[in-house]
Order: sequence, then structure tokens, then C-alpha cells
Amino acid sequence: MSKIIASAAIRGAHKYVTEAETRLKEAIGTYKPEKKVGFPNTAYNLPLILALLGLKVETLKDCQEALGHAKDLLPPVPEESLWLPYLGNALDAGIATLIAEEIIEALKYLDPSYKPEPPWLGFTDDAILRTQGIKLVDGRMPGFAACVGALPTNRDAVELARGLQERNILIFIAGDSQGRSMAEQLQEEDIEMGWDTYIVPYGKHVGAAVYALNFAARGAMTFGGIKPGSFDAARKILLYNKERVFAFVLALGADPGVNGTGQLLTDEKYATAAGAINYGFPVIADVPIPQILPRGICTYEHVVSGVSLDKIIQKAVEVRGLKLKLSKIPIPVPYGASFEGERVRKENLYVEFGGKYSTAFELLRAKPMGEVEDGLIELVGPDIDQAQEGKAMPLGVLIDVAGRNLKTDFEPVLERRIHHFISCINGVMHIGQRDIPWVRISKEAYEKGFRLKHYGEVLIAKFKEDFGALVDKVQVKVITDQAQVEQLLKEAREIYRQRDERVLGMKDEDVENFYSCILCQSYAPNHVCIVTPQRLGLCGAYTWLDCGASYEMDQHGPNKPVPKGRVIEQILGIWEGVNAYVKGASNGNLESVSMYSIMQDPQTSCGCFECLVAVLPETNGVMIASREYQGETPIGMTFSTMAGEVGGGVQTPGFLGVGKLYLTSEKFISAEGGIKRLVWMPSELKEEIKDRLEKRLAEIGMPELFDKIATEKDATTSEELVEFLQRVGHPVLELEPIVA
Ligand code: SF4
Ligand code: ZN
Repeated sequence: MSKIIASAAIRGAHKYVTEAETRLKEAIGTYKPEKKVGFPNTAYNLPLILALLGLKVETLKDCQEALGHAKDLLPPVPEESLWLPYLGNALDAGIATLIAEEIIEALKYLDPSYKPEPPWLGFTDDAILRTQGIKLVDGRMPGFAACVGALPTNRDAVELARGLQERNILIFIAGDSQGRSMAEQLQEEDIEMGWDTYIVPYGKHVGAAVYALNFAARGAMTFGGIKPGSFDAARKILLYNKERVFAFVLALGADPGVNGTGQLLTDEKYATAAGAINYGFPVIADVPIPQILPRGICTYEHVVSGVSLDKIIQKAVEVRGLKLKLSKIPIPVPYGASFEGERVRKENLYVEFGGKYSTAFELLRAKPMGEVEDGLIELVGPDIDQAQEGKAMPLGVLIDVAGRNLKTDFEPVLERRIHHFISCINGVMHIGQRDIPWVRISKEAYEKGFRLKHYGEVLIAKFKEDFGALVDKVQVKVITDQAQVEQLLKEAREIYRQRDERVLGMKDEDVENFYSCILCQSYAPNHVCIVTPQRLGLCGAYTWLDCGASYEMDQHGPNKPVPKGRVIEQILGIWEGVNAYVKGASNGNLESVSMYSIMQDPQTSCGCFECLVAVLPETNGVMIASREYQGETPIGMTFSTMAGEVGGGVQTPGFLGVGKLYLTSEKFISAEGGIKRLVWMPSELKEEIKDRLEKRLAEIGMPELFDKIATEKDATTSEELVEFLQRVGHPVLELEPIVA
């Protein structure tokens, strides 16, 4: 490492350690040394310190111990002229920096009302880590970019963000250069930020970059299954990141005049960068700081500088060795999964379809080969040039697909992908499906030349790319003529009705095979989902039909048919064939699994369940917690705390991770009496599944039960809940004990 960088990094490390020391002293003065300290909703204490030192920091006193280790690592501040021929010293300084930075950040959370000012987000909790971090591991996100500083203009900032988003690269932002930050630039340009759009601004000071690195450390512990606690584990956590998480730092802009030395970046930035290099994350800078090219800790170069902005992403991808799957679709706007969660707001609206505003539908049909002309896009009715700005138009989207292996059964599975495919267009928002889609096109997309034929281009390209084994030909008809949309809608509704009968009519008893899903074994190595017609996968994404389609597409993929075999116990739903399969697929960890019980041999949970069902013995019933609800629940834990206890692919009687659709299935914990056991759920979830829930309660002859199911508005502790259940006369009180 060049001496200038090494001395600056070491100086920066000293500054951070001193700052952490001062703040810690103050905190101990205000509180007691036994005062608890930590980040919200994580099972990993101070994650980076846990990962690197194996130390569980729970109190201020523990912070002192951690800081002691940081001080031991600190090399002496070198004389300006001292030559440091190797990286060792600066790397140690980097580790000391990260420890100090994490303590400084954690101390902020001592104030229970602390929340970073928008747009800054601060600490990422475990729930988000599980849903988003998995994408870094399974390749949906090829890597992350930690952007530090600001760009010459707001336009450059938007371009950089779009370029990264288009490649599905997750963007973390921390730090400023000359008082400006990339996040502020994006905010000024109305660019939506947050986990939904893959742009995560942590904080305006460079020390906030520690959140990106403690996210990466937790990723290794969660998905890599590395148990912290030893020097070897710390090494493995760093190696895991080097080999599996393709991250890099973009140092943007300069901080001229630092120390009056001509040094281009602050000591603090060099110190934090030295921390990142320990992870194998290289630094790419647009300003000409000294380069460090020889390979070593990083896969390739450590610091590459003076890269012009229009080449910086390409350079980073090269240096870090990112594997990009880039399918270039011929449309005039960027395309990628990072645009999936993007909203188009009223002020930004050029034209919309469906929702409350016009008639709209989407229908996909499997057709014989001879009836589909591959690549054909037809528009019936006016294009959006003729729209009145801000108003609605009718929309019908008819997709015909043909393929030798295609079956009518797969139509709904493929049709459900429309949402994902269309949402990934920058400037197009898509919600809903079938006859309730709601689509918005932004002014920006329209001005860039986006027209309805591009809607077809996207669908054709994506169906062929993602379902190549099934789909040989695709044609798309987009209809905006009111009379024709209405006419076709009638036909479409008849098809939806027939499909529902087929899927909803299906019972577990009617099929010979269930399906397995082992997709989540990448991070919960012994977890297996058994998916039945009446019980979908716990993530909510895989129904029995979906698993069947996926098996047809790839027989060596994550889904396989599982013959039920001889029944061992009817009520619990235990079959010989299922047990045999699960034993093998769980690497011998599971002997028996029940399809319908929460108490006896329940299915395991990985971590991505939509909801958690938990037995509340004092009520003789069960409660449901959902990912969206972050408040307290009657079991005394929030969703994320509970999730930390239940996941990982082990059987936990009394707890069950489930998909939302299963909640109203006839087979919902039917071994324990089913939906009658339900005593509490978040109000938002209750509203979301209201129609289905009312229908299900009517089926069992208990429509009045709907109002007897409490929400957080009625009770948040078990005492309050018992009182509520007695007051309303919930039938659960009369059932036989759920816990023997
Ligand atoms: Fe498959 Fe289950 Fe993971 Fe969903 S939660 S992807 S069904 S293993
Ligand atoms: Zn999972």
C-alpha cells in the first residue's frame, strides 16, 4: 500500500478510536456500565464486532472490551515520511476503524427515540437482511456498491444510480464530499430511495458505511451458516464475503485541502476503505488517488483510481469480477429488478390503465404452435401519444404462448409473471393481475420514447428468457379500444373462473404426489418445504401447480414430485413417502413431518415465511404475526425476534412459518382444529385477507368468529388478549387443550 494511503488510514483509525472512546465515556457517565446497548431487531448484537471478535456486545461495558481490542490492533501513527511496504498495518487499522465506527453508531440507539433523519436509514434489521441479503447469495443481485461521496452534478448521480440499478447492483450510500452526498443529489432529483428500489442511504458521515459492512458480516453468518466466536470464524466470514458477495466501494469526488498536504480524500475515508479491503472489497475512485494494483486480499486490484464516471461501473464490474446476466431488451428505458418496487406518483403520471380508473385485464393462453406468430406485437386502438396527460385509458393485454411442453395448467403460473416482468421497466408501475391490474406510465418514460409496443417487447423477451424450456413462441396483442376491451374481458372472466375451479377445487386427497422445494437450502441447508394443493410453500411464492411447472421446466431444479405413499396418520397428515423423501433431503435431520399439525412434527421453517403462526398456551389458541407488522404481539416478541428463533430448518413445535394463502385453507392446522384456533392477527393482515377469511368462516358455519379474532387494536399482551377472548366469547375457550 502506498505510504500516503497507509499513513492516512492509520491516522483515520486513531481518530475513530478516540472518538468512540470519548463517546463511550460520556455514555457511561450518563448511564451505568451495565446499560444495554444494541441495534433494533437483530439477533446479532453488534454484528461486525460479533463477526470479527466473536464478542457478544450487550452492555456499555462490553463496548469497552471491544474497543480495547481495537486499540490493540492500532498501529502507531507513522511519521509523514515513513515507508510502509506492506498492507498489514493499514489493514489492522481498518479493522480497528470498523469496530470503533460500529460502537459510535450503536451508542446513538441508546436514545430509544433515535431515528436517522430522512433520507438516511441507519441500521438494517434482520428481517430485511433475510429477504434482501438472500438475493446477493442466490445471484438475483450480482453484488453491491458502497458509494461514498458525491458526484459533480445531480445528473451524474442519477445516471450512476440508474446504471447500477439496471444491473441489479444494490446501492449503499454513506459519506459526503465537500458537504454533498450522492443521496442528497438523488433526493433533489426525486429519485425514490429505499430497499424497494435497491438504493439504501445509510448516513451522511463516512462512518455510516459500517452498516453496509455489518450487513455483509451478518450475511455470512446467516446464509453462510458460519458460527462466530473464533479467529477462524472471523477469517471465514471475511473470506465468504470475498468469494460470495461481489461488493466494491465507489469513492466519488475529492475532499481537497485535507491536512494541507494535497491528499485528495480524508483520513476517515482511507481508514474506512482499509476496513472494506479486509472484506476483499476493492475501492474504485473517480479522482486520482494513489493506486494499489497488486493482487492479494481482494480478488484483483485493491484501489483503482482516476476512472472517468462513464466507465466507473464497467471498471468496478471488471475489477470485482461480477457476473452480470444482462438481457438487453429493445426498449428506450432502463430495465431491471431494482425498478420492481418503484412507484409512479400522481405528479409524475403520464397515463394510467385500470385500477379504479378504467377497464383493464391481462390474459395469457397456451395455444397450438400453428396459431402463434413468434415475436408479433399488435396494437388495437390508439397508442399513448393520444392520451390526455394524467388521465386513464382502457387496456387489454392478450398473450399467446406456444411450446411443445406447454400445458393449459401452466397458464396461471406464467400469467402471474406478467407483474414481475412489467414492474421491472423503469418508469412503469404495475400492480395486480387478471381483471384488476393497475398500470402507470411516468412522464419520464413517455418522454424517453416508451410506447405500448415496448410493453409487448418486454413480455416476449422475458417469457422466452425465463421459461425457455417451455415457451417456444410468444405473441402479444395490446388493446386500448374501449369496446373491444369490454368484449374480450367477458371471455377472459370466463377463463379465470374455470381456472379457479381447477385450482381451488383441488384437494390434497385428490393427488398422488406432493412437491418438494429445496430452494432455500442455499442458506438453511436442512430445510425442505413440502407443497400440497392445499398448502403452498411458506414464502407464499410456490403453489403446488407452480412446483409442477417448475419441475417440468427443469427436472434437476429445486422442485420434485414426492409420492405420498402409505398413510401413517390421517389427521396429522403423515405419509410414508413424504417422510422418506424429507429424511433424505434434510440430510438425515428429520424423521417425520406432519402436513397439518403445528404441535407434532411440524414442517420446518427457513427464514422467508410470509407469516408465523405461534401457539399461545394461555389462550388455548394460535396467533399470527406477519412480516409487515413490526409492533408487539401477545407472545411478547416482535415478528423479527420470533423469526430469529424459529428459522434455520429445525422443527419447532408450537411455531410454524406459513404462506398467507394457507391461512384460509381447509387444511390450516387442521390437526388442532383449524381456523377456530385463531385468536390474534395484525389488523393490516386481517384486512388484506378479509374476503377469504369471511368465506372460510362461513364455510365452517361460524361467520361471527371474524369479529372475535383480536388485532393489535384489541390487545398486545397475553393478559389483554385473554380478557378480550372471554369478553367476546371466543369458541377457542371451549376446545380441548392445544398443549397436552
Ligand atoms: Fe421453496 Fe419453501 Fe424456500 Fe419458498 S420457502 S422458496 S417454497 S423452500
Ligand atoms: Zn425460505
